[in-house]
Amino acid sequence: MTVREILSIGHPVLRSRAVDVDLGEIASERVQGVIDDLIDTIRNANGAGLAANQIGETCRIVVLEVNNNPRYPYKPPIPLTVAVNPELQVLDDETVVINEGCLSLPLRGDVERFVNVRVRYFDRHGIEHRETVRGLIAGTWQHECDHLDGVLVVDRADPTTLSTWDEFERHHRDAFIERITRFVAETSS
Ligand code: ZN
Repeated sequence: MTVREILSIGHPVLRSRAVDVDLGEIASERVQGVIDDLIDTIRNANGAGLAANQIGETCRIVVLEVNNNPRYPYKPPIPLTVAVNPELQVLDDETVVINEGCLSLPLRGDVERFVNVRVRYFDRHGIEHRETVRGLIAGTWQHECDHLDGVLVVDRADPTTLSTWDEFERHHRDAFIERITRFVAETSS
């Protein structure tokens, strides 16, 4: 297991569409190694999610984990989830504006995300999962699956809301946390 370099915006791999993992290959040393490295790298960086192409691997694998995350203190917990070949299905047209960051770029910005999403994926043992996810957790899934299609948060963000992490802390954090904490309380009930 290795903490890998996280590629930054401008690297062509972040703009390429990752390819499906052959299900017969999930148990292979190569795929299991990519998964182990993704877990080490996301934990080292305090990320909420990480897609394989962010570490230069062009396969459709994402990991998600939120557990008292200092980068995103308002996010509800997500147990460690390894998703191979994830697919999203939007369930209705309800949306929420989420201020998102990304380990591959130095800015945060407001992005409109669907609130209710069904996810289908295979775990690292090749077992299929189908789950319905809501709210910020649904937003994290949309962010990570965007990566696999070569889409970055700056493509979807309202450009007038882009800010560095420092300026976000200084000018926008309190209002965002107040609004999103209320939203999390409403969607988790
Ligand atoms: Zn990202």
